[in-house]
Parts: sequence; structure tokens; C-alpha cells
Amino acid sequence: MKLPLCNKYGFDDEQRQKRLAFMGLSDEDQPGIDFLQTKIIQPFAEQIVAEFYRKLTTYPDIKNFIDKHTRLENLKATQILYLKTYGVNFSSAEYFEERLKVGQVHAQINLPISYYEMAYRILNEIILEFILKHLNVSTQEYLDIVKLILNITALDMSLAIETYYNKKVNEMSSSINALMDERQVLSKQVERDELTRAASRARVMDFLQANVDKANEGGHHFCIAMIDLDHFKCVNDEYGHLVGDEILKGVSARMMAALRQDDMLGRYGGEEFVLVFPGANIKIAERISKRICKHIEEEPFQVEQHSIPVTVSMGVAQWHKGEEVEKLLGYADHALYKAKHQGRNQVVVEYYQDTKSA
Ligand code: GH3
Ligand code: MG
Ligand code: MG
Repeated sequence: MKLPLCNKYGFDDEQRQKRLAFMGLSDEDQPGIDFLQTKIIQPFAEQIVAEFYRKLTTYPDIKNFIDKHTRLENLKATQILYLKTYGVNFSSAEYFEERLKVGQVHAQINLPISYYEMAYRILNEIILEFILKHLNVSTQEYLDIVKLILNITALDMSLAIETYYNKKVNEMSSSINALMDERQVLSKQVERDELTRAASRARVMDFLQANVDKANEGGHHFCIAMIDLDHFKCVNDEYGHLVGDEILKGVSARMMAALRQDDMLGRYGGEEFVLVFPGANIKIAERISKRICKHIEEEPFQVEQHSIPVTVSMGVAQWHKGEEVEKLLGYADHALYKAKHQGRNQVVVEYYQDTKSA
């Protein structure tokens, strides 16, 4: 016989014995179960179950829950079966398997856990009433039966709750995973500028700050460049904004193609971009910037039926000890301003010596 739940939850002989010991049960209890089954449950199962559902359905919440999920007749049949196996061979793997199934089914229909406790409580109450009414037992015998019923119920409930929680936890962790995936997609989206696919301003500024922090810790140097499209307003004026957008996309793609793997291009705003070159000295940054400038200029952009020449101006600056982001951006911007002033389509490097004396 296959016992998938016992396998899943590790209820081998040893673990079953451990659980039974926790619940105060041992093989010595088996005759008590036989007695209970023969004298009370087998003869009165239908009546006990009828009384059980009569009491349960006096609670409107429970009644609504039952009406929503199943037919009372089906539940009664299942419950009679449950009762007729109540405690029978409680140490067997088959018994554990059946009780584990209960939690799984209930988790599927989202049965609140408090309903379990209440249902077991009512069932215990009814069985005890039936014993009092139909059996002539001494107080000691009655106490022994009460104890046995409490223990068996605790065992059944512990197994049902085990699978119930596991199912709920699995459901929760899969919805957490789904949320994490969604979050990753969303954060990827905000990390990139939608139009140009360059990094967003926020992301490139974070990256810049991280480079400043790392450099301030020592041993790391880096450069940045500010880039601005030349006379871009004219492109918009002549070809329209949508064509302008396509040019921005194309310029961004050409710039990205000219970068090293660790460099980051971000859209600073409008037709302005910022580039961060981690680990680069000013010579390397200048060389890459010139490559970009040339790469943009050398071939006109083809948009719709138009062939549109575009150039960019770039200002490059190197980070120096103690410099904050704003200051570094200011130097690069100053170099960019010079590039524009000197005729555009060129790279100007803001040398440290210049800025110090400026
Ligand atoms: P300069 O060489 O001095 O930089 O001249 P410019 O025309 O590029 O500069 P200006 O600041 O006068 O104009 C920038 C233009 O860039 C105006 C603005 O409409 C356009 N622009 C900014 N963002 C976008 C965009 O997302 N799409 C399009 N199509 N145009 C944009
Ligand atoms: Mg501009
Ligand atoms: Mg411009």
C-alpha cells in the first residue's frame, strides 16, 4: 500500500512511536479502543454524527461554510467512516496516512483552524455523553475512557494540523515567490529608462554614488562623462517628436555598444546622458568617449525614410579624493559646456589642474 503522506512527513515506525508517546498513547490502549468501538461507536455512529452536525450547524458561520463547500449528507457519510475507524490500529502507518489526508483536504477548502478545534471538542463531548447514557461504568473506568478519547483526538488533530500547516506554508511561499518575481520585473523596469533602454537617472546616480563611496574607501578611481545631443531641438522641429524619440533610442544604443562591460550609461534627462567608467583613468575615459563621439557621427541615423546626421558633445571628468557626486557632475558639465562652446561634436576633458586653478 502506498503511503505518500507518511513518506512525505517522515512518519516511519520510529516517528510514529514518538508521536504516539507525545500524545500519551501506547499499545496498552488498544483494548480501550476496542471497547469504545464495540460498545459505543459501532452501535451509535449514525446517531452521534447526526447530533454532531446538529450542534455544528447551530453556528451560522459553520453552517454557511458547509453550505458553500459540500452537501451535508456527504459530510455525514465521511464523518461516520471517520468515527468507525476512530483509534482503530492507531499505531499503524495506514491510520496516520488517513489522518494526514484530513488536513490536506481542509487546507484546500481553507477551513479555519479554529473550526477544527471546535469540531473535535463537540465530537468529544457527544461521545462522552453517549458513554454516560449507554454504559454502566465506574468513575475510574469513565475517567480512563475520557483520557483515551482526549489522547486519540489529540493525535488525530496533530496529524491533520501537520498537513494543514504544511499546505498553507507552501501556498504562502509560492505566493511570496510569485511576488518576488514580480518585484524583480518591476525593479528591472524602473532601473531602465523606457525609451532609450539606458539606466534610469535614479539607477545611474546610485551607481555613481557607489563609485564615489568605493573610491573614498581607497584604491578605486573612476571617471564620468556628460553627454548632450547637438542641436537636437532642430531634429524635433524638422522631423517631429516621434522621429526625435527614435534618434534618442538609436544614439543610446550606439553609445552602449561602444562601452566596456562595467561602464554604465544612464539617461540624465531629456537629450542628456551620463556615463560612469569604473576603474578608468582619464585617458581611458577620454578614449572611450571619443570612440562614442565618432561612432555617433560617422553614420547618419535612418528613421522612416529620413537619413539624419546626429552628433553629440561630451564633457569628461575624473574623480578626485574627497569629491562628492555633485561636484564631479559639475566638472563634467563644465567640460560639456566647453565642448558646446568650441563648436560641438567633440569631447572635452576637464583636467584636474584646470579646475583647481579655475
Ligand atoms: P544644444 O546643442 O545646445 O544642446 O542644442 P539642443 O537643441 O540639443 O538643446 P536644447 O536644450 O535647446 O533642446 C533640447 C531638445 O531636446 C528640446 C527637447 O524637446 C528635446 N528633447 C528632450 N527630451 C526629448 C525626448 O524624450 N524626445 C524628443 N523627441 N525630444 C526630446
Ligand atoms: Mg540639453
Ligand atoms: Mg542638446
